[in-house]
Amino acid sequence: MDNSIKTASQNGLAFNPNVAALPPYNAGMNIAVARSISGRHDIARLASNENPDGCSPAVLAALASPALEPWRYADPACADLRAALGQKLSVEPDTIVAGNGSEELIAAVSRAMLVPRAGVVTVVPSFGLHEIEPLAQGAVVTKVAMTDDLGFDIAALEQAIASGPRIVFLSSPWNPVGPALDRESLDRLIAAVRSGTLFVLDQAYFEFADESCPDGLKVLRESGIAFVVLRTFSKAYGLAGLRVGYAVCSDVELARVVAAAKTPFNVNAAAQVAAIAALADEAWMQGSVARLRGERARVGTVLKELGFQVARSQTNFLFFDCGGDSSLVASALLQEGIIVKAWREKGYENYLRVTIGAPADNDRLIGALAWIARQ
Ligand SMILES: *Cc1c(COP(=O)(O)O)cnc(C)c1O
Repeated sequence: MDNSIKTASQNGLAFNPNVAALPPYNAGMNIAVARSISGRHDIARLASNENPDGCSPAVLAALASPALEPWRYADPACADLRAALGQKLSVEPDTIVAGNGSEELIAAVSRAMLVPRAGVVTVVPSFGLHEIEPLAQGAVVTKVAMTDDLGFDIAALEQAIASGPRIVFLSSPWNPVGPALDRESLDRLIAAVRSGTLFVLDQAYFEFADESCPDGLKVLRESGIAFVVLRTFSKAYGLAGLRVGYAVCSDVELARVVAAAKTPFNVNAAAQVAAIAALADEAWMQGSVARLRGERARVGTVLKELGFQVARSQTNFLFFDCGGDSSLVASALLQEGIIVKAWREKGYENYLRVTIGAPADNDRLIGALAWIARQ
């Protein structure tokens, strides 16, 4: 008998071709790798849009509470969390689906809606999963490019949306670019939606936006179209490692099918109690958002003074053209112990996305970029 390990193909396995062909998700670099490359211990993690302030102390207390029983399966319906969210958002809890991060809900919505060759519209540069999850279902993804002044191309989006895709995936505020759809633009896009299209508005950064960014949930609820609004505890609430986000659906029928597309015990017990505790301490979140917005303005001004074209940002990151291959700039920053994200989508390889971190880390970033800009 031949005991040697054979590859999957040698063993005759056939993969789902849509999944086998997926592009990799461009995740931020691991801290241990960054330490070994830079030889520095104090790594500035400015690639993953995490909250440098941490999270509410009420979350840490809830995680240490004896009420958390890790040996039990958590509530698969996330009833307490959905009730708290329903109250906060004034929506029917049965229209809400909680997910293992909102990323899981991007996958669930894709599974719920898409069949091979179905059309999907998104933007480029894009949040990777808005393309990857539809591709996994065999969908055909059309990506509308940003404008020269680093904004949404509303006319081109209207046209793409009017062609009748099954799903439109847009983030507003927009990852990786930064701006949000204003009320007029959002209204125009909603007006372009035809029967049969699901409009997914991913508002992972909603808490960081100002009043010029409408509450997508309010606007979409008044519109009458089929929608999903995605929100997350990962960014402003600082719970990225626990994995919890949610989808608010336009109606209960849609929510039921999206929920059917997720795994049953998708949100673990720790994540459920943490999210409830985080929601009950909005003041912590708002304090953190205020600090980060101040830092965003400060860093943005300096980057512009250094000569970079920086996109407007309603998020906790900045996106800018570094005038050459951004992976070279990212490597130079890594030598200084700073992790950032070099954008790799075709046509956007000169762009860098940097998370707004703690003031000292932002200062390190500014210092290193100023040095690079002089070379
Ligand atoms: C960070 C991010 C998410 C994912 O958040 P999780 O809830 O951590 O899965 C979703 N959408 C966009 C646009 C994001 O930037």
